[in-house]
Amino acid sequence: MQQITVIGAGTMGNGIAHVFAMNGYTVKLVDVNKDSLQKAVSVIGKNLDRMVNKGTISADDKLGTLSRLYTHELLENSDIEKSDLVIEAATENETIKLGIFYRLSEMCKPEAILATNTSSISITKIGAATKRPDKVIGMHFMNPVPVMKLVEIIRGYSTSDETTAAIVEISKKLGKVPVEANDYPGFVANRILMPMINEAAYTLFEGVAGVAEIDTVMKLGMAHPMGPLQLADFIGLDVCLAILRVLHDGFGNPKYAPCPLLVNMVMAGKLGVKSGEGFYRYQQDSKDLVVAPQFSK
Ligand code: NAD
Repeated sequence: MQQITVIGAGTMGNGIAHVFAMNGYTVKLVDVNKDSLQKAVSVIGKNLDRMVNKGTISADDKLGTLSRLYTHELLENSDIEKSDLVIEAATENETIKLGIFYRLSEMCKPEAILATNTSSISITKIGAATKRPDKVIGMHFMNPVPVMKLVEIIRGYSTSDETTAAIVEISKKLGKVPVEANDYPGFVANRILMPMINEAAYTLFEGVAGVAEIDTVMKLGMAHPMGPLQLADFIGLDVCLAILRVLHDGFGNPKYAPCPLLVNMVMAGKLGVKSGEGFYRYQQDSKDLVVAPQFSK
C-alpha cells in the first residue's frame, strides 16, 4: 500500500494525514474548504516541529513527511484512482458521508478499501451506499491522532474478514493499537463517553456546579486527565451533539437526549476549541484555561 487519500482536513483529517505521511505513505488530503486545507498544513508543520524539538523525529523526517503530503480541493483532481485506501474524515453528517461514499465507490479502483473515521454513523448504512460494502469499514482514530494510540475498528454488517485484517495490520504499522467492535450506535468509545459529556452539560445546566468545579471533580476524583467539559470543547460541541443525536435516534432511548444547553451553544456557534469558545474561552498563544464569560460567576 503506497498512496492513501484522506477526505476532510479538519481536526481529525489533519492528524490522520500527519500520521500516514510520517509513516512513509503518499497522502492526498482533500477538503472542499480551502481554508481547512491551509490550516491543516500549518497545524501539521507545527506538530512536526514540536516532535523535532522533543527529539521524537529528526528535521529530515519532518521534511520527508511534508514532501509526501499533497492537498486538493476537488476529489477529481486528487489521483483518487491510484489510492489503495481512503479514510473519510469529513463533517459528522450522514448525508455528506453517504454522498462521499457513493462517489468513492464510482471513482476508486475496485480493490481499494474505503474507511470512515465517523464517531457514530452506521458503517453498514455507509457501506450500503457503495457497490463494495465488503470493503467499507470504520477506522476510528482518537484526537489528537499523532498522540493517541487507540484505533477503534468497526465492522459493518457486510465488512469482510480480509478488509478487517488489512486495517488491523495498517493500524499496527502506524504504531497504533487496534480494537475491534461491532456496528451499533456510538460503537464502544462514544457510547460510553458521550453520555458522560451530556451528563456533565446537564449538571452545569441545572446549576449543580460550575464549569471548573465539574471538571475538577472528574479530574481529581476519577483520575481523568481532562474534565468532560474541556474534553467536549476539544472534540467540538457540534461533533458531540451530532453523536448524541445518532445515539438518541439509534436506540430510541430518552436517556441519550442532548442537553438543551449543548444544543443552544452549537446554535450560537460556540463549538469549543475550533471556534475559540465553548465551555472555556481559547485565546491564541495562551495556555491558561479560562471559563467562558457565559459561565463565569
Ligand atoms: P471538523 O469539523 O474539524 O472537519 C471536518 C472537515 O470536513 C471540514 O474541514 C470540512 O470542510 C470538511 N468537509 C465537509 N464536507 C466535505 C466534503 N464533501 N468533502 C471534503 N471535505 C468535506 O470535524 P472533525 O472533528 O475533524 O471530524 C471529522 C470526522 O471525525 C467526523 O466524522 C467525526 O465524528 C470524527 N471524529 C472526530 C473526533 C474529534 O475529536 N473531533 C474524534 C474521532 C472521530
